Amino acid sequence: MKLTIHGAARTVTGSMYLLEVNGRKILFECGFFQGKRKESHERNRFFPFVPSEIHCMLLSHTHIDHSGNIPNLVHQGFEGTIFCNHATRDLTSLMLEDSAHIQESDAAFINKRNQREGRKDEPLAEPLYTLREAQAAVRHFMSVGYDRAFDIMEGVTVTFHDAGHILGSSEIVFDLREGARRLRLVFSGDIGRGKSDLLRDPTPFEDVDVLILESTYGGRTHEPQETANDRLCAILNRALERKGKVIIPAFSVGRTQQLVHALHELTEKHSLARIPIYVDSPLSINATEIFRLHPECFNAATNEKLRNHENPFGLQTLTYIRSADESKALNDHPESCIIISASGMCEAGRVRHHLRNNIDDPKNTILMAGFCAPNTLGRALIEGQSHVNIHGEKHVVRAHVEVMDAFSAHADRNELLGLVERSTGPMRQILLTHGQLDQAEALAKSLQVKHPDSKILIPDLHESVEL
Ligand SMILES: [Zn+2]
Repeated sequence: MKLTIHGAARTVTGSMYLLEVNGRKILFECGFFQGKRKESHERNRFFPFVPSEIHCMLLSHTHIDHSGNIPNLVHQGFEGTIFCNHATRDLTSLMLEDSAHIQESDAAFINKRNQREGRKDEPLAEPLYTLREAQAAVRHFMSVGYDRAFDIMEGVTVTFHDAGHILGSSEIVFDLREGARRLRLVFSGDIGRGKSDLLRDPTPFEDVDVLILESTYGGRTHEPQETANDRLCAILNRALERKGKVIIPAFSVGRTQQLVHALHELTEKHSLARIPIYVDSPLSINATEIFRLHPECFNAATNEKLRNHENPFGLQTLTYIRSADESKALNDHPESCIIISASGMCEAGRVRHHLRNNIDDPKNTILMAGFCAPNTLGRALIEGQSHVNIHGEKHVVRAHVEVMDAFSAHADRNELLGLVERSTGPMRQILLTHGQLDQAEALAKSLQVKHPDSKILIPDLHESVEL
């Protein structure tokens, strides 16, 4: 039995793992690698294995760094089934179509620019995959609920458990049998913080022999989640005293719904004045509809609300905006308002227009509430840069920039350690992935103290491990 780490090795992006057992190959995760343009293109275009040789695939959750390259896998010859949780299937179908759309329009933009500037020698830019290819990939999905063991081939039984990270996110448990050998391999996927207002706590791992654990924040602690709403409220009330607008860049799946839910609670409690709130992102609207369809994925309190036909993702003062014209009309909105828009890292989408129009007014506030990778506009704002570039124009940052990480969808160092503490089994090998090297090393140190008999590894890209 062999495991090869083909992505998210000593970094957070491009998750991809190849498991070989009983002479067959199983892939879990097939994420987009996101980085500098040329490297990303190469890494995403060429697989380090032959897609047609993969027997089947498993997917832990919908985020694009875990699912984004599936259409390419299918297009290049993969014929098997892709297993995931029901909500993950629904959300991923949306995400992949959206991703195809972004790639098609990016390629069209580049080709148009090259033509306009007379760059005849530039090769024609092509999208990594098209909308049609994304739709073809979704036909390979087969969804399974949490906690149901199912056989994917001889000698491999799989169970998904709730990882509490986003809607439908799963830990994947593999019960492997090869000859007389029996082994339980657990892949954590991305792990949530626990104590969420919406989601359940991550499930502790049971009887684990080999654990693959994410380490995004293996060396850091977040602000406490319990006081997240109070902190959000304080930031918003300060912003509203200045009578400006509040722009919140947010991921369409997960963060947006979490923020809307928090605003709902604060408005109900009268901690926040009733001011207009806009969610300006078509993908967020579609994703929110899917959230409503899956009460089984939420914690007891939210499940109850959804069953009683209450709407935790809507309130009287909130408007969901689909059309581009309505989005543009927000520029002339005369009063204070809150605009939640994608993308979370401010690299694409309508939020860039809102930032461009509001960044140079000191009355306004930009609230950064999510992770932003290096070299993104979001990261520049978090780092407090005084000038930023948006759509090729230089802007002075005069708006107030507020940063909070309490809404993070990832467990921090103590929360990861707590989860492993509540887990059982010999854990003779622990592989730390999905984290920058410094974060993985910090987590390895803490884990080794508690598990002196475990072999803790931080695998490098394409490294193989015998299980
Ligand atoms: Zn994730």
